[in-house]
Amino acid sequence: MKKEISITQIEQAVHEAHDLYRDNHDGKNADYIPYLAGVDSQLFGISVCLTDGHIIEVGDTQYRFGIESVSKVHTAILVLRQYGADKLLSMIGADATGLPFNSIVAILLENDHPSTPLVNAGAIAACSMVQPTGNAIAKWKAIVDNITLLSGSAPVLIDELYKSESETNFNNRSIAWLLKNYNRIYDDPDLSLDLYTRQCSLGITAEQLSVCGATIANKGVNPKTGQQVFDASLAPKITSLISTVGFYERTGDWLYTSGIPAKSGVGGGILGVLPGVMGISAFAPPIDEAGNSVKAQLAVRYIMNKLGLSVFSGDSVTITV
Ligand code: GLN
Repeated sequence: MKKEISITQIEQAVHEAHDLYRDNHDGKNADYIPYLAGVDSQLFGISVCLTDGHIIEVGDTQYRFGIESVSKVHTAILVLRQYGADKLLSMIGADATGLPFNSIVAILLENDHPSTPLVNAGAIAACSMVQPTGNAIAKWKAIVDNITLLSGSAPVLIDELYKSESETNFNNRSIAWLLKNYNRIYDDPDLSLDLYTRQCSLGITAEQLSVCGATIANKGVNPKTGQQVFDASLAPKITSLISTVGFYERTGDWLYTSGIPAKSGVGGGILGVLPGVMGISAFAPPIDEAGNSVKAQLAVRYIMNKLGLSVFSGDSVTITV
């Protein structure tokens, strides 16, 4: 079916969501990374970027928060760009774990460790795959440049977060070396882990994440810069990865109730992709037990339901002015 939605309707839905949930106090800031515990838990922003680059936003959309696990999407795209879809499947995998993001058990259970680039194990493996192998400086530049191309502007490393996370990432250190045990890490484990930790510590805004979502929704063409960042054939691959595991053990409930593939980070950010229509991001620090922002989930779900949008509807959506 054809479905028409006006920009005014989207603006209304976005503002209603912000008004509705601004005073919600559920969840709490991540505290296993000390820096995140100290971020103002009242911050709340929502940004929608349409595939023509038009942005609709409200609240704290320019605040730079820790990108955390949302960066797994960006680096999965970089690996897809450098290696192609088949290699990502054979070297990492594309399967949901149904377990928490940092699960070690998931690595032991999967025959094809580590299963998906959107959980910690697969994301560390993805960092290990980034070319050129062995060159930490050039690999880091490739990771940051890729995020910049996808977002239309550069992320900025939050030094304090990087320090905080490096001092406390014992579980991730175990994951990196367990992957080594299974020959599922493709560069030095410590180097790969450090890249992963650094990429999680990048500061990003909700607006930048919405532009990245729109770039995926727009088949690899960044609607703000007009640049083709990745081949159009890779767009459904990345959206399928996000669909299956974007909210970890809560992914099914999320997709069922919201209708949009989305990826979360413990910094409080969410990045959603509605192919052909828009990227959407919401940011609010308090998270639930699975590590997904409470308010960002409420807001994005509200907007999708209010507008009657779903990736599974089969509707062909046109945005009118
Ligand atoms: N850097 C965090 C970690 O590895 C990211 C987790 C997340 O955002 N879900 O624990």
